[in-house]
Amino acid sequence: MERSPARITVSRRETQALLVELQRLPSLIERLDKISAEATAAREEIESLVEKADALIDKELLAVNPPKCKLCSSKLILRSGPRGLFWGCKKFPKCRGSMDYGKWRRDALGMLTADEEPEEIVAHVEE
Ligand SMILES: [Zn+2]
Repeated sequence: MERSPARITVSRRETQALLVELQRLPSLIERLDKISAEATAAREEIESLVEKADALIDKELLAVNPPKCKLCSSKLILRSGPRGLFWGCKKFPKCRGSMDYGKWRRDALGMLTADEEPEEIVAHVEE
């Protein structure tokens, strides 16, 4: 026996009401785009502020706590390597002393994680 396809009965009134509501879609999409653009702008602003704050914090930390090489006591210089920023001895390649930058920073800010031992930070380095 052949089955007839199920029919959905929608009243003309319902259809009309839905069509009226569907006309709101473009303006809803426009609202969404606007909100999305605002969110992107706000995120960019936040990122820029965080960057500025980080730079200022670094500057302050360096003024208060310039790190010294653990091997030869020379000044450490902030360098960029494949794994990110690190402190390298000024006397490189004669001295291979280095220190993890992120850890030094967290230590100086009192933000070391529970499993991290503090780096040795010497208060002041004379040029
Ligand atoms: Zn050194």
